[in-house]
Amino acid sequence: LTSAEESVLEKIESEDVDFLRLQFTDILGTVKNVSVPARQAEKAFTEGIYFDGSSIEGFVRIQESDMRLKPDPETFAILPWRNNEDSAAARMICDVYDTSTGEPFEGDPRYVLKNALERAKEMGYTVNAAPEPEFFLFEEDEDGRATTETGDHGGYFDLAPKDLASDVRRDIIYGLEDMGFEIEASHHEVARGQHEINFEYDDALTTADNVGTFRTVVRAIAAQHDLHATFMPKPIPKINGSGMHTHLSLFTEDGENAFHDEDDEFDLSDTAHSFLAGVLEHAPAITAVANPTVNSYKRLVPGYEAPVYVAWSDRNRSALIRKPAARVPAASRVELRSPDPSCNPYLAIAVMIHAGLNGIENDLECPDPVRENIYEFDEQKREEYGIDTLPSNLGEAVDALEEDEAIYSALGEHVGPKFVEAKRQEFEEYLIDVSQWELDRYLETF
Ligand code: GLU
Ligand code: MG
Ligand code: MG
Repeated sequence: LTSAEESVLEKIESEDVDFLRLQFTDILGTVKNVSVPARQAEKAFTEGIYFDGSSIEGFVRIQESDMRLKPDPETFAILPWRNNEDSAAARMICDVYDTSTGEPFEGDPRYVLKNALERAKEMGYTVNAAPEPEFFLFEEDEDGRATTETGDHGGYFDLAPKDLASDVRRDIIYGLEDMGFEIEASHHEVARGQHEINFEYDDALTTADNVGTFRTVVRAIAAQHDLHATFMPKPIPKINGSGMHTHLSLFTEDGENAFHDEDDEFDLSDTAHSFLAGVLEHAPAITAVANPTVNSYKRLVPGYEAPVYVAWSDRNRSALIRKPAARVPAASRVELRSPDPSCNPYLAIAVMIHAGLNGIENDLECPDPVRENIYEFDEQKREEYGIDTLPSNLGEAVDALEEDEAIYSALGEHVGPKFVEAKRQEFEEYLIDVSQWELDRYLETF
């Protein structure tokens, strides 16, 4: 056993952990659990734990369904909502292995991200990422089902007593801190019932792990307060939706921020400019992965602080990529504003990284930033500035993904086709449905 594995065994002993949840993520981003008695921890480290992969979304075909989970000891954490004096449950995030070959399983999203990081490493970089997940807290009805009632009428940065949910948010933050999160800031978002909790940036793999944990903790603690937390991108029309802006930066082997250049007008290096150009170039394909639901595209419309146009800016929030002000060199980074919290964080971060690295590899020229409010541009002005629009629905986005060889292949031979198949099916189901809007509009008119 490694020393990290040894120390997990010690903690299991000292904290009276009796159950271990072994976690991994399916292609659609849902966190899955296999629960084992804690005494199996050692075996999990040495041999792995076998499970039947055929029941997991997009994982394997039935005839080749045996998978093995190998826990990453660095991800050990006691679950704060399952912890009492003489018993506790803990979780570890796992890598998935194929039992027939003994190799990492290509359909494991964590593996897809590891590949992206491997590519960055070959080019001399490590990748840092910080997400900003937004979510809504909704009341439950008498049967415990989620509604879209918020019972709170706060606005951006409003304080109590208007922000009735601040108690819940405080408990969520305690829960996250118990799970090892460094919370940077938390605030009420623009929309009623909407919240944002930011946690400290980390290496990209840890960050992707953290997003899954974050969603689990937020939902679990909201539920203790009889509230439903949702990461659905646009639960209520005509007000802001929930994004998951993602900040990215590259560091060199000697720990320097490769995005920083103090002589540049925007404090961005040539490397950063090319990275940015790569993300802009591949933006349509990235959208399919970073905005993977039918509902995602109800958020990506003008007027609600969500991006629609493929441009970058050092100022304004209508652009796809923003260059946030950095107080210290290490903080130079770019913020991609399109991702939403319904995405699979491993896959979304992986395609963003590949797009940026393509930009660096091909020395792509970065366009000028756009400093005006692009929501107010007409088509002619957008054409003049050479500004494209993001795909307007899931179907278009999936087409763009399939047509973008570099990004599609970055998902790997397993995940790429499975993802496209699942998303095409989701979009087709949506297209043949008849919505409440249609009934309201047409039923009595025709
Ligand atoms: N809620 C907005 C979105 O959909 C973002 C607001 C903000 O700038 O934090 O992306
Ligand atoms: Mg926000
Ligand atoms: Mg932001």
